[in-house]
Amino acid sequence: MTAKTIDGKVIAAELRARVADEVARVKREHNLVPGLAVVLVGSDPASEVYVRSKHTQTQAAGMASFEHKLPADVSQADLLALVAKLNRDPAVHGILVQLPLPKGLDTEAVVNAIDPAKDVDGLHPNNAGRLAGGFEALSPCTPLGCIILTKSVHASLEGMNAIVIGRSNLVGRPLVQLLLNENATVTIAHSRSRDLPGLVRRADLVYAAVGKSEMVRGDWLKPGATVIDVGINRIPKDDGKTRLVGDVAYQEALAVAGAITPVPGGVGQMTVACLLVNTLRAACAIAGLPKPAV
Ligand code: NDP
Repeated sequence: MTAKTIDGKVIAAELRARVADEVARVKREHNLVPGLAVVLVGSDPASEVYVRSKHTQTQAAGMASFEHKLPADVSQADLLALVAKLNRDPAVHGILVQLPLPKGLDTEAVVNAIDPAKDVDGLHPNNAGRLAGGFEALSPCTPLGCIILTKSVHASLEGMNAIVIGRSNLVGRPLVQLLLNENATVTIAHSRSRDLPGLVRRADLVYAAVGKSEMVRGDWLKPGATVIDVGINRIPKDDGKTRLVGDVAYQEALAVAGAITPVPGGVGQMTVACLLVNTLRAACAIAGLPKPAV
């Protein structure tokens, strides 16, 4: 058996097209132009790539994109002042402060300063709490993408056994909540879990969000399982360059799984597309409009 590849590129492109349609509609019907502000502090090369891609895709969807670049030695007070200004700006409906922040800045204080209504990264405690309580919330983009990818394979996740490996605020924890909302039965695994292979073997849905190259082996998987690989790990090649691998041993998993996301070309593609969804949803909510059809 060879697993079906879940093509994040195609699914993300479809989602971006649906967002663009809805953006055009709210512009036409309500004169509303959703706006996303991205704040980049310092010059981490990976973060710069992400921010550029967010800017391009935001504009391509017909939304306004505002970029704010601050030096790595910006003071906490100046960063908080920018967040406060963006909170007040009526053209801005989504605020994303690119993480990780340089050392010396208090990430928690910055995230907490973002207006929860504009918190398109879904990291503000109000949104995390609302999500955990089963209420309507802006949810983190990567977990949202994981759910959309899973639903490209399974129309309903009801009653399925899912395992989420990793419990970060950015990925693992919100993903667990979103899976519960889909009525899946969820196991949360982490670095202290015992017999991880045994836990994974029971799962119909496997989400690996660990940050360890190819940690999940093919023989851990239940035959036919759907595998969503969130991990992005850079490993050195013979020519001195690096290549990306996920948290799942892809070639091994292909022979056992029913469906699997590749790295790259899987979850990573969905994250920015879901950021556009969140910005559109935030703009509609702030303007008092019904939830858009994406
Ligand atoms: P974190 O480092 O914040 O969390 C990693 C989690 O993995 C922790 O909960 C940790 O457990 C757990 N873990 C570590 N080692 C093991 C182990 N041996 N067995 C089981 N669990 C383990 O990472 P993130 O959640 O931020 O990111 C996870 C991965 O996803 C990374 O590779 C990251 O690059 C990638 N990522 C990809 C995105 C995308 O768009 N595709 C977006 C965001 C992240 P404990 O809590 O006990 O320490």
